[in-house]
Amino acid sequence: MLRPNGVLVWQNEIVRSRLSWYHAVMRNQKPAKFLICKHIPCNINLTSASEEDLWLEHERLSPIFKDLRTRISDGEIKLTERTHSTRSFLDLKVALLNRMLTHCNFCEWNCKVDRVKGLRKGACHMDATTRLATWFRHFGEEAPLVGTSGSGTIFFAGCMFRCAFCQNWDISQYPLNGVPADGRRLALIMSSLKEEGAHNINLVGGEPTPNLHTILDGMRYLEDNIAMLWNSDMYASVPAMKILADVIDIWLPDFKYGNDKCALRLSKVPRYFQTAARNHSIAHENGDMIIRHLVLPNHIKCCTKPVLRWIAENCPHALVNIMDQYRPDYQVLSDPEKYADIARRPTVEEIATAYEYASELGIIYEPVS
Ligand code: SF4
Repeated sequence: MLRPNGVLVWQNEIVRSRLSWYHAVMRNQKPAKFLICKHIPCNINLTSASEEDLWLEHERLSPIFKDLRTRISDGEIKLTERTHSTRSFLDLKVALLNRMLTHCNFCEWNCKVDRVKGLRKGACHMDATTRLATWFRHFGEEAPLVGTSGSGTIFFAGCMFRCAFCQNWDISQYPLNGVPADGRRLALIMSSLKEEGAHNINLVGGEPTPNLHTILDGMRYLEDNIAMLWNSDMYASVPAMKILADVIDIWLPDFKYGNDKCALRLSKVPRYFQTAARNHSIAHENGDMIIRHLVLPNHIKCCTKPVLRWIAENCPHALVNIMDQYRPDYQVLSDPEKYADIARRPTVEEIATAYEYASELGIIYEPVS
């Protein structure tokens, strides 16, 4: 076994209770949420209905999904007792995403470009084609995600952030990197990762958000029971979050900055804090969560402390990975004078301050940091 703590971590009662849904899906005791969505019939013609009517149907079905999931979670009902719908809640979500793709509002940039025609590009510079940079079982993620045989990680090319320190810049900043994949190919990859023993499907990049249409289409073709993990910068739009809320079993969001000024300067994104906070709240209401916070040098007061305080007040059920591995990379390496504040590793004192502050706030970080 490559990571013994992938097993030992489950002896921790707090981890077991805070990640109880994910743990049950991982052990095949409960069905993944996307499989539940397939069992909820949709009563609307997905081709001829207007986008507005598709959303009305989504609003109708979402509470039905939540009720069914609660009954499954409580052990009142088993999914196998229900029939598979020919036109389901999951099909409805895919139909909605394909409409949204023609005036793209997948994320907070709300570019409104037609990514199917692809004549104009939005902030992510992507058309409708999803490209995969790589995929493999990852053993470097948090202990509950790695288990005995790894996290089935799929790296999507492209991103809507421009982080000056990105360590995956060759994937995130070059959306034409990698190989094209449609829903069927993605489902095959997910299925083969499960076959190899992966405990979850870890959707990451770059950033998965611009690829939502392909990701949910992939779930339509996938019949394996495997937990879906959203590993994201949490800059999705509210409609995208509504679609995601019913299919993601465990959230692995990044909460980077404690204010908009740092986000704009270092990642070139506007309205960061309110967007990330809103999406973390939606995720917290809709599943298990491990929040990542990367400690940046010289950003303890402006970023680390406000982020940890917000998490303690608004996401009390979340585990938090306080990450100490920042190192200068990408544009920070090539122009260290421009990014002087983050042109070094965080000090031992800075990391200790972050841990002490998290402890004062009652945040549980030790099992996943
Ligand atoms: S995914 Fe976001 S950045 Fe890309 S086109 Fe859509 S709204 Fe714009």
